[in-house]
Amino acid sequence: MVKKSLPVIIMVIMGIFILTACTNEQQSDQSEKKDNDGTRNSELVLPDPQLKEGSKDEDVKQLNSILAKIGYTITDKNTFNSDTKLAIKDFQSQQVKLAATGIYDQDTKKWLKKTLDGTFKIEPGNGFAKEDVTASKAETITVTNPKDTLVLVNKHHALPTGFEPDDLVIPDVRFPFTEDIPKKYMRKEAADALEKMFAAGDKAGIDLFAQSGYRSYDRQQNLFDAYAAKDGMEAANKYSARPGESEHQSGLTMDITSPDIDYQLTIEFSDTDEGKWIKENAHNYGFIIRYPEDKEAITEYQYEPWHLRYVGKDAATVIYEKQITLEEYLGAV
Ligand SMILES: [Zn+2]
Repeated sequence: MVKKSLPVIIMVIMGIFILTACTNEQQSDQSEKKDNDGTRNSELVLPDPQLKEGSKDEDVKQLNSILAKIGYTITDKNTFNSDTKLAIKDFQSQQVKLAATGIYDQDTKKWLKKTLDGTFKIEPGNGFAKEDVTASKAETITVTNPKDTLVLVNKHHALPTGFEPDDLVIPDVRFPFTEDIPKKYMRKEAADALEKMFAAGDKAGIDLFAQSGYRSYDRQQNLFDAYAAKDGMEAANKYSARPGESEHQSGLTMDITSPDIDYQLTIEFSDTDEGKWIKENAHNYGFIIRYPEDKEAITEYQYEPWHLRYVGKDAATVIYEKQITLEEYLGAV
């Protein structure tokens, strides 16, 4: 009996051995696949769906675990709460190609993946939380990064009183006047970009003119005082900036116009060939229309199709493509 069944037992044992070996091979195949997917840890996978504040499911748990792994403080891994939003905003603000929306989307996923891979390095807490973009609508703060091409200047974020850029130059473009006056000036990087944009405009057969660039703190003070004396403080604040709160003081701004509207700075500029061309092409040279139509609630300025702000090509492209404002791009909303 025993002798007869011995070969059978040996065959069964060998069978188990082969089976186990195969299963192990399959398992290691699977974990390798996950590694190739870009996540080092086979348990953490960047979710696919868009996630935002209030989201609450397995995907949120995954995202929060990944954010914690990168170094962010996440108190509740099960919920996309203010911790998660702040972490996402902070992360996004460290990559110029991302708008700091606080919403997890495909673009954010792409860069988070690079961070997990080690190909895109960030420092948790060194982005949004450290940028001067967090003033509430009830206050005005003085920014500490006036030389940053992404500096936020608005009714709640003022440039330092005496701030004057140290690299102001006159861009080699057309002006409707000939005097050498301060408003011809811009910071070097912005001036170079403006020249490129005007050259491209010439090629496209349009007739751009630069009207007003740099404006000092004192000049803005005089302007605002004059407007306030004429129309009252409240009215003046609607169409003019208080000293320190004008982007023109940054040296990154140029108001542009065209002969068709008699070189004025008016809304009609948007209907001219020049205005239309600017709207579709300015971002290719690093400029944005700073006060877009229908964004008054965010910018607190009426539509100004002539007021261009230099932010650099990457940021300008994101702002143009997403049709957002600088405030939204920086997460200051
Ligand atoms: Zn302007």
